[in-house]
Amino acid sequence: MRCPFCLHMDSKVLDSRQTEEGGSIRRRRECIACHRRFTTYERLDEMPFLVAKKDGRREAFSRTKILNGILRACEKRPISSETIERAVDEIEREVRSNLEQEVTSDYIGELVMDKLRAIDDVAYVRFASVYRQFKDIDSFVVEVEQLRKER
Ligand SMILES: [Zn+2]
Repeated sequence: MRCPFCLHMDSKVLDSRQTEEGGSIRRRRECIACHRRFTTYERLDEMPFLVAKKDGRREAFSRTKILNGILRACEKRPISSETIERAVDEIEREVRSNLEQEVTSDYIGELVMDKLRAIDDVAYVRFASVYRQFKDIDSFVVEVEQLRKER
Protein backbone atom coordinates (compact mmCIF):
# COMPACT_ATOMS: atom_id res chain seq x y z
CA MET A 1 0.00 0.00 0.00
CA ARG A 2 1.60 3.26 -1.17
CA CYS A 3 2.38 5.88 1.49
CA PRO A 4 0.25 9.02 0.88
CA PHE A 5 3.04 11.26 2.24
CA CYS A 6 6.24 10.13 0.58
CA LEU A 7 4.75 7.67 -1.95
CA HIS A 8 6.99 4.86 -0.78
CA MET A 9 5.55 1.53 -1.89
CA ASP A 10 5.88 -0.42 1.34
CA SER A 11 4.08 -0.06 4.62
CA LYS A 12 3.57 -2.31 7.55
CA VAL A 13 0.20 -3.08 9.05
CA LEU A 14 -0.19 -2.05 12.68
CA ASP A 15 -3.79 -2.95 13.18
CA SER A 16 -6.48 -4.55 11.11
CA ARG A 17 -10.17 -4.78 11.78
CA GLN A 18 -13.39 -5.36 10.00
CA THR A 19 -15.71 -2.34 9.72
CA GLU A 20 -19.11 -2.64 11.35
CA GLU A 21 -20.93 -3.31 8.12
CA GLY A 22 -18.40 -6.04 7.53
CA GLY A 23 -17.83 -5.15 3.90
CA SER A 24 -14.37 -3.72 4.32
CA ILE A 25 -11.24 -3.89 6.38
CA ARG A 26 -9.79 -0.87 8.10
CA ARG A 27 -6.02 -0.99 8.35
CA ARG A 28 -3.75 1.25 10.34
CA ARG A 29 -0.43 1.39 8.51
CA GLU A 30 3.00 2.83 9.02
CA CYS A 31 5.24 3.76 6.11
CA ILE A 32 8.53 1.92 6.38
CA ALA A 33 10.40 4.85 4.79
CA CYS A 34 9.06 7.99 6.52
CA HIS A 35 7.33 6.22 9.45
CA ARG A 36 4.22 8.32 9.14
CA ARG A 37 0.97 6.56 9.84
CA PHE A 38 -2.15 6.38 7.74
CA THR A 39 -5.38 4.43 7.54
CA THR A 40 -6.73 2.52 4.61
CA TYR A 41 -10.12 1.00 3.97
CA GLU A 42 -10.08 -1.95 1.69
CA ARG A 43 -13.15 -3.55 0.29
CA LEU A 44 -13.10 -7.28 0.93
CA ASP A 45 -13.95 -8.20 -2.63
CA GLU A 46 -11.28 -5.93 -4.08
CA MET A 47 -8.44 -7.01 -1.87
CA PRO A 48 -5.80 -9.11 -3.46
CA PHE A 49 -5.25 -11.90 -1.03
CA LEU A 50 -2.61 -14.51 -1.55
CA VAL A 51 -2.38 -18.09 -0.49
CA ALA A 52 1.07 -19.65 -0.19
CA LYS A 53 0.96 -23.29 -1.15
CA LYS A 54 3.06 -26.13 0.18
CA ASP A 55 5.24 -26.18 -2.93
CA GLY A 56 6.04 -22.48 -2.49
CA ARG A 57 3.79 -21.20 -5.25
CA ARG A 58 1.30 -18.46 -4.53
CA GLU A 59 -2.17 -18.08 -5.87
CA ALA A 60 -5.03 -15.66 -5.36
CA PHE A 61 -7.37 -16.52 -2.54
CA SER A 62 -10.45 -18.18 -3.95
CA ARG A 63 -13.72 -18.48 -2.12
CA THR A 64 -14.96 -20.79 -4.86
CA LYS A 65 -12.13 -23.19 -4.25
CA ILE A 66 -12.98 -23.45 -0.56
CA LEU A 67 -16.66 -23.86 -1.40
CA ASN A 68 -15.89 -26.65 -3.88
CA GLY A 69 -13.69 -28.48 -1.38
CA ILE A 70 -16.41 -28.34 1.23
CA LEU A 71 -19.14 -29.35 -1.23
CA ARG A 72 -17.11 -32.37 -2.25
CA ALA A 73 -16.66 -33.40 1.39
CA CYS A 74 -20.36 -32.88 2.11
CA GLU A 75 -21.63 -34.79 -0.89
CA LYS A 76 -24.75 -36.85 -0.07
CA ARG A 77 -24.62 -35.79 3.55
CA PRO A 78 -27.68 -34.22 5.19
CA ILE A 79 -26.19 -30.74 5.24
CA SER A 80 -28.12 -27.73 3.98
CA SER A 81 -26.61 -25.34 1.47
CA GLU A 82 -27.20 -22.54 4.01
CA THR A 83 -24.94 -24.33 6.48
CA ILE A 84 -22.26 -24.70 3.84
CA GLU A 85 -22.57 -21.06 2.71
CA ARG A 86 -22.33 -19.89 6.28
CA ALA A 87 -19.23 -21.99 6.90
CA VAL A 88 -17.57 -20.58 3.78
CA ASP A 89 -18.52 -17.02 4.82
CA GLU A 90 -16.99 -17.53 8.24
CA ILE A 91 -13.83 -19.01 6.80
CA GLU A 92 -13.48 -16.17 4.30
CA ARG A 93 -14.04 -13.55 6.98
CA GLU A 94 -11.47 -15.16 9.23
CA VAL A 95 -8.89 -15.42 6.46
CA ARG A 96 -9.35 -11.83 5.37
CA SER A 97 -9.15 -10.39 8.87
CA ASN A 98 -5.52 -11.47 9.07
CA LEU A 99 -2.93 -8.78 9.52
CA GLU A 100 -0.93 -10.03 6.61
CA GLN A 101 -2.39 -10.14 3.14
CA GLU A 102 -1.08 -13.60 2.71
CA VAL A 103 -1.90 -16.85 4.43
CA THR A 104 -0.71 -20.41 3.92
CA SER A 105 -2.86 -23.12 2.39
CA ASP A 106 -2.26 -25.06 5.62
CA TYR A 107 -3.92 -22.31 7.60
CA ILE A 108 -6.98 -22.39 5.34
CA GLY A 109 -7.07 -26.18 5.47
CA GLU A 110 -7.13 -26.09 9.26
CA LEU A 111 -9.95 -23.53 9.25
CA VAL A 112 -11.98 -25.72 6.92
CA MET A 113 -11.36 -28.78 9.07
CA ASP A 114 -12.44 -26.89 12.21
CA LYS A 115 -15.70 -25.93 10.55
CA LEU A 116 -16.42 -29.38 9.13
CA ARG A 117 -15.64 -31.01 12.43
CA ALA A 118 -18.47 -29.00 13.97
CA ILE A 119 -20.85 -29.72 11.09
CA ASP A 120 -20.55 -33.38 10.18
CA ASP A 121 -18.21 -36.22 11.14
CA VAL A 122 -18.22 -37.92 7.76
CA ALA A 123 -17.62 -34.70 5.84
CA TYR A 124 -14.81 -33.89 8.22
CA VAL A 125 -13.09 -37.23 7.80
CA ARG A 126 -13.47 -37.03 4.02
CA PHE A 127 -11.92 -33.61 3.88
CA ALA A 128 -9.18 -34.53 6.34
CA SER A 129 -8.27 -37.62 4.36
CA VAL A 130 -7.69 -35.56 1.23
CA TYR A 131 -6.16 -32.62 2.99
CA ARG A 132 -3.84 -34.52 5.33
CA GLN A 133 -3.09 -37.02 2.59
CA PHE A 134 -3.26 -39.98 4.91
CA LYS A 135 -0.47 -42.22 3.80
CA ASP A 136 -1.82 -45.39 5.27
CA ILE A 137 -4.83 -46.81 7.03
CA ASP A 138 -3.21 -46.24 10.46
CA SER A 139 -3.07 -42.47 10.22
CA PHE A 140 -6.67 -42.55 9.04
CA VAL A 141 -7.71 -44.62 12.04
CA VAL A 142 -5.87 -42.29 14.40
CA GLU A 143 -7.87 -39.34 13.06
CA VAL A 144 -11.18 -41.16 13.38
CA GLU A 145 -10.34 -42.37 16.91
CA GLN A 146 -9.49 -38.81 17.87
CA LEU A 147 -12.85 -37.66 16.58
CA ARG A 148 -14.66 -40.41 18.47
CA LYS A 149 -12.94 -39.44 21.71
CA GLU A 150 -14.11 -35.87 21.33
CA ARG A 151 -17.73 -36.89 20.92
ZN1 LIG B 1 6.15 7.48 3.69
